Amino acid sequence: MGTRAREILGLDVNALLKQLNQAYASEWLAYYQYWLGAKVIKGPMKDAVAAELNLHATEELSHAVLVSNRIIQLGGTPALSPKDWYDMSPCKYDAPADPYVAVLLDQNISGEQCAISTYKGLMDFTKDKDMVTYNMALTILEQEVEHEEDLQSLREDLDLMVVRGSK
Ligand code: FE
Ligand code: FE
Ligand code: MG
Repeated sequence: MGTRAREILGLDVNALLKQLNQAYASEWLAYYQYWLGAKVIKGPMKDAVAAELNLHATEELSHAVLVSNRIIQLGGTPALSPKDWYDMSPCKYDAPADPYVAVLLDQNISGEQCAISTYKGLMDFTKDKDMVTYNMALTILEQEVEHEEDLQSLREDLDLMVVRGSK
């Protein structure tokens, strides 16, 4: 990385790179979970939910782009093999084995809650020490917060529909 860019960092770069690679692995798993979920989904409101899952998939991929760019800028290497993602990721991959819409929503809500914690952790680690990574983590966090709310509001709509529809 650039020498002046390294000098202004007030933290352990290797520790930061480890956290960034964990987030990077999580983004790819989140991407795949959303992407596949949108294909296999079944149940009420499936078209509306699939559209949101597809949109989130592309947004998770854009987070992987941001994180990998910062890893490289810091002199690190993004996880080179997909087989490493599973072990590195602090957020678990939930296979869409049960394609029912409510199950997929709940799985992805958990994933977003884990992502929010991941970026909050990155912000705490970099605050006042690495403004560039801090700013990137904030940008991504804003989108993860939006994702959680999108999914929870779809989940609420689904509950209202199922409960009222049964009366
Ligand atoms: Fe993400
Ligand atoms: Fe997300
Ligand atoms: Mg959305």
